[in-house]
Amino acid sequence: MNSRKTAIVTGSNSGIGLATAEALAANGCNVVLNSFTDGEADHALAADLAKKHSVDCVYIKADMSKPAECRDLVAQAAKRFGSVDILVNNAGIQHVSPVESFPIEKWDAIIAINLSSAFHTTAAAVPMMRKAGWGRIVNIASAHGLRASPNKSAYVAAKHGVVGFTKTVALELAGSGVTSNAVCPGFVHTPLVEIQIKDRMKEHPGMDRETVVRDIILEKQPSKQFATVEQIAGAVLYLCSDAAAQVTGTTISVDGGWTAS
Ligand code: NAD
Repeated sequence: MNSRKTAIVTGSNSGIGLATAEALAANGCNVVLNSFTDGEADHALAADLAKKHSVDCVYIKADMSKPAECRDLVAQAAKRFGSVDILVNNAGIQHVSPVESFPIEKWDAIIAINLSSAFHTTAAAVPMMRKAGWGRIVNIASAHGLRASPNKSAYVAAKHGVVGFTKTVALELAGSGVTSNAVCPGFVHTPLVEIQIKDRMKEHPGMDRETVVRDIILEKQPSKQFATVEQIAGAVLYLCSDAAAQVTGTTISVDGGWTAS
């Protein structure tokens, strides 16, 4: 990234998205932060990043469960900065339940936020990227984009969908200077996973937190260590770099060995 680029990171007031936004700002990008809330704290995050890294940052509220708001986020970013060069589709939610009792509204929300939002933002950003002859689309999928686990039907379906979508967009854009890739994290300690730790502790009242994390949450992660948000951001940075110009249509796993077996 040798000239100032504009990056949108969806779902970036927390966790992996925020760390990715910070990494992009630290590498000289102007950054659009996003979530569905519109609080003072959200706008303060953008102001902090701008000050800390001497770049231009703005927080734009847009609900990634709503197609028109996904597309409008890209339009607003382009209006503000003149272009959108990097799009990181990160917004995501989780719900854990057996398929027969999986709440319909949770299924719809997960498919909308975790999968369809990437379609809408990508569709809105691609014409600008094609015109510029340079672009980077990075979708934050999951180890669950490559493997399944019980009770996560919507999440696994959405993340497998994201991986398929990533590859299709890569083929459509091959040779244009625009790449499309996915990062597939294993378990990363963020608010999304903290909810799962608390739920599992309730299911296993005899187990202490450390045992729940090691034996239940990290059951499939051979390293028995969480990945960090900075490590996921590092994979995104690589995919945005010139070194990754010929890396397209693929996945990078940051999962402590989960998908090796
Ligand atoms: P998180 O809960 O910290 O972050 C999720 C972000 O999405 C937040 O900023 C939240 O505000 C935003 N968001 C939620 N609903 C939204 C909506 N309707 N519109 C706009 N933004 C919305 O969780 P995280 O772990 O940082 O998750 C980020 C991404 O990484 C998700 O796509 C998640 O599936 C993926 N992921 C996480 C892990 C993990 O272990 N934490 C593993 C694999 C993949």
